Amino acid sequence: MSIIHGNYQIYDVSMPIRRGMPVYKNKPEKQPEFETTADFQSGTAHETRLHIDAHTGTHIDAPLHMLEGGATIESVRMEDLVRPCRVIDLTRVNQAIHASDLVDCGIQAGEFLLFKTQNSFDEAFNFEFVYVAADAATYLADKGVAGVGIDALGIERAQPGHETHKALLGRGIHIIEGLRLAEVEPGEYLMVAAPLKLEGIDAAPARVLLLK
Ligand SMILES: [Zn+2]
Repeated sequence: MSIIHGNYQIYDVSMPIRRGMPVYKNKPEKQPEFETTADFQSGTAHETRLHIDAHTGTHIDAPLHMLEGGATIESVRMEDLVRPCRVIDLTRVNQAIHASDLVDCGIQAGEFLLFKTQNSFDEAFNFEFVYVAADAATYLADKGVAGVGIDALGIERAQPGHETHKALLGRGIHIIEGLRLAEVEPGEYLMVAAPLKLEGIDAAPARVLLLK
């Protein structure tokens, strides 16, 4: 969804959070639950309690997600998530993004990259989602990127050793998962990624906006 506001086009690249939304591997225990704790039948206000996984919808992973003793989500600095970014078109890629798919992208140290793939066009969870292969993660880490975002609920799959997460988080590279980029053209944007200020845990859902 995008709107024009003043001099900006604003793209909301976040997933709606609702009962029945796509969740990782369609696991029922990962479905969000909204519990109505007060309503106008029982009282004078409407209130809701959330039961959600920290990795629900569009979210940011903290190092603790994959590294024992790693930093927790509130330690991610605001200026690392409110900053320029570049959307790269990888819609031609099948299955996995490899280093060979990235060599012609002109990737520079310090960039925050968002990968737009076929995943952005999936309405339901796709078990064959496009992910970042370990060799691509190593390539990105060696390039010294600041962050990587992808339009899948996971940045990797079928990796028992979680090499992709570890190659990135182990080098202080931020990971955003669950982006929705179908409407977004490749190019440079100002990103505003705002994870909930949860303390001491491994991830947080985030509202992510791209401004042009
Ligand atoms: Zn995650």
